[in-house]
Amino acid sequence: MKKLTKVLAMTLAAAMSISMLAACGGGSTGGDTAADDGASTAASGEKLIMGTNAAFPPFEFVTTQGIVGEFDGIDVAIAKNIADSMGRELQIEDQEFDGLCAAVSTGKIDMAIAGMTATPERAQNVDFSIPYYVATQVMVVGADNTDITSAEDLKNDKKVGVVLGYTGDNIVTSELAVPEENITRANRGIDIVQDVKNGKLDAVVIDSATGKALAANNGLKVVEDPAAFESEEYAIAVQKGNTELLDQINTVLQGMIDSGEIDELAVKYSEAEE
Ligand code: GLN
Repeated sequence: MKKLTKVLAMTLAAAMSISMLAACGGGSTGGDTAADDGASTAASGEKLIMGTNAAFPPFEFVTTQGIVGEFDGIDVAIAKNIADSMGRELQIEDQEFDGLCAAVSTGKIDMAIAGMTATPERAQNVDFSIPYYVATQVMVVGADNTDITSAEDLKNDKKVGVVLGYTGDNIVTSELAVPEENITRANRGIDIVQDVKNGKLDAVVIDSATGKALAANNGLKVVEDPAAFESEEYAIAVQKGNTELLDQINTVLQGMIDSGEIDELAVKYSEAEE
């Protein structure tokens, strides 16, 4: 009997930790994309490994000549400064956003820098740096759309796109409670706005700076509703308890905030055409 109780308790604990990891990325199963590839784990090499999802301009995107290989953007610039401050080479792992927290918790990557909103749910599984950017959700709609002027309008039989596991997914699904059959989920911000362009979707709910960049690049427009969408703070995620790396990250971030470098990067990359 005692043994059975113990087995049950262990099963329950395992189930809980799996659901917590999933919740980290918004409740789906994308957590194992970076796992078991036989590569050195994050802690073992000289390289500092940043995990991201490079489909989120102006924070991370792929271009011909980026800061690190083909990768460019505000977050890549921040990561490069962190790596330089530690005398380590920066390596970038481009993966699905939804698996980033799990990759941090399991040590497959040293840090996730991905325009990631520091939510209490994610903070159960990773430690967050100080915030470095404030964003909110916006709606990207067709250039001549006139019937979406507020978040409430999305509930009105509108086809809404989100990126899987993003805070926008959570808001559309849980807070606005758009009916499930009207929600389309994609893995990449740059892909889902194409469905607004080709008329399959009425709106995409996505972070403000990215929504503006994607709208500008695709001849679409942005509708804002600050009353409906709360502000969100972007922060860098590290493995729980890795205070050494977190302190280093915070020092670099604070320096970049105080010197105005983050603001400059935001202006530079918002103006840049990809
Ligand atoms: N800020 C949003 C989130 O944390 C989107 C981040 C991203 O797509 N890269 O969910």
